[in-house]
Amino acid sequence: MPHRVKEKIEAAQRRARRDAVILTVSAILLFIAAVVTEAFEYVVNFSDTHESWEIDEMLVVMMIMPLAMLIFMVRRAQEMRQEINARKEAEKATERIALHDPLTGLANRRKGMSHLKKLLKNASTTPVTIVGVDLNRFKGVNDLHGHNAGDLLLVAVSERLVDLVGDLGMVCRMGGDEFVVILKGSAYHPPISDVINQLPGIFNAPFELEHVVCSVGASIGVSQTDDEHLGEEGLLSRADVAMYRDKNKGGVSISFYEPGMEEAAKRRAMIESELRSAIIDDRMEPYFQPIIDLETGEVIGFEALARCRASDGNLLMPEEFIPIAEQSGLISRLFLQILRKGCLVLRLKPPHMTMAINLSSLQLNDDWLAEQILATLTETGVAPGRLEVEITETALVANFEAAHAMVMKLKSQGIRISLDDFGTGYSSLRHLSELPFDKLKIDKSFVVRLGNDEASDTIVRTVTTLAHNLGLKVTAEGIEDDAHVSFLKGIGCEYGQGFLYGRPVETSHRRVTEDAANEDHEEVEAFPTSTRGIA
Ligand code: C2E
Ligand code: MG
Ligand code: MG
Repeated sequence: MPHRVKEKIEAAQRRARRDAVILTVSAILLFIAAVVTEAFEYVVNFSDTHESWEIDEMLVVMMIMPLAMLIFMVRRAQEMRQEINARKEAEKATERIALHDPLTGLANRRKGMSHLKKLLKNASTTPVTIVGVDLNRFKGVNDLHGHNAGDLLLVAVSERLVDLVGDLGMVCRMGGDEFVVILKGSAYHPPISDVINQLPGIFNAPFELEHVVCSVGASIGVSQTDDEHLGEEGLLSRADVAMYRDKNKGGVSISFYEPGMEEAAKRRAMIESELRSAIIDDRMEPYFQPIIDLETGEVIGFEALARCRASDGNLLMPEEFIPIAEQSGLISRLFLQILRKGCLVLRLKPPHMTMAINLSSLQLNDDWLAEQILATLTETGVAPGRLEVEITETALVANFEAAHAMVMKLKSQGIRISLDDFGTGYSSLRHLSELPFDKLKIDKSFVVRLGNDEASDTIVRTVTTLAHNLGLKVTAEGIEDDAHVSFLKGIGCEYGQGFLYGRPVETSHRRVTEDAANEDHEEVEAFPTSTRGIA
């Protein structure tokens, strides 16, 4: 209840008590005076001597009246008490609405912050732990299953959080898909450490919503009070910073705040903002790296690799911005820009050349992807057979059903598929044999060690034999010297890609577009069509 209203009610109650005391004291004093002065005898005598004035009748009425007034006052007092109770209830309801989240019933940001502020007063003796929980790809649930399902998911998550935390802390919904758990005690000692350890587990079981069952991951960040005497905001922001460290990894991640994490968070925010404006302004650029037929030394095509030019002129690399593009829902637009610009270059190359392009694991669930790729191929006049879509082994294993459906869809349109970064993702023979891949690309981490590490030699040899037995061609990534080439040729590996043949290079997109407009199909810069003499 707001403080001012409470004060007013207490003042009214004090006044009523004071009035009752005054009335009682006055009655007692009057009684004493009446006894001392024999007032009643005096009145009786006066009444007898003035019979015609009907004083006795008046006295009877005057005796009945207070009784009636007493009954009236008691009833009025009862009504007032009911009125006060109703008001108190209304005040409580208003307070509840002001301090709780209407959807989940959890404490809201305001209540959480004031609770935290109170706990922080004793932080020097009892540490306070903050756990930030942010659902991953919650927007996807809303988009895919509707807002009602999204709401049900938030309620289900809040129930699991409350069940786990119990009396050990307060669970708050800070807004959107963001929850915060405020715990009294150290994150590194039981019982708080037990709660934190069990937190990722609440996302293991799928959530059964009204008509759908869905799984959702979460990013969890933990911060704890220390000697720096941070305020509420500082402590919350540390939990946020820790949470964002692994935000892009998918599944459920948990990380504890460490000094220096702010720098990484700042860089991440900078990259996201650069990436967003590059995508909005259609400034994402493909860089091209040649792919070589190892036997003939001919360039058979190239891989288009995304690059983003930051406003300070520096080039941002995909290992840094792809996870951010995935996280911020920009990956499809990024892919389509690289595809379109890549196709504009590809159509000016000899017709036997192909272009490989990387697909993010998130795009495997995109129902419109195949149509969008075909539309781009049609728009740029590139035959589907000249495009090779690369799916990483990790993406395949993480989402086999979706990968299967996507591969079948793209293959049915004549697009080629290769399995990228092979050796890093623990796929099984079933995965390999059930999908009609055209090519397998051995990850560069094995290729760069060829000749120096027996295990890598064995892996590359075995994988190549396995791929050939399954009817797949093999590309070795990361070829950096002639010894690699000799080894790979010796085991029958068909294609190669690596710094030895050429680093990824820019091909002026504007120049290509102008050339295309002039129907001038001459070769445009980038890489040579033959590497004979290089390798
Ligand atoms: P990837 O698809 O395996 O691409 C090959 C990466 O290996 C490229 O790095 C390339 O520059 C690098 N590389 C090529 N030859 C050598 C070599 O001889 N030695 C070494 N050490 N490295 C070599 P890049 O361009 O930084 O791309 C890294 C990864 O980012 C790519 O690996 C791919 O998974 C991802 N990526 C790049 N562009 C896109 C994109 O448009 N969409 C998506 N979803 N992912 C992309
Ligand atoms: Mg690739
Ligand atoms: Mg690769």
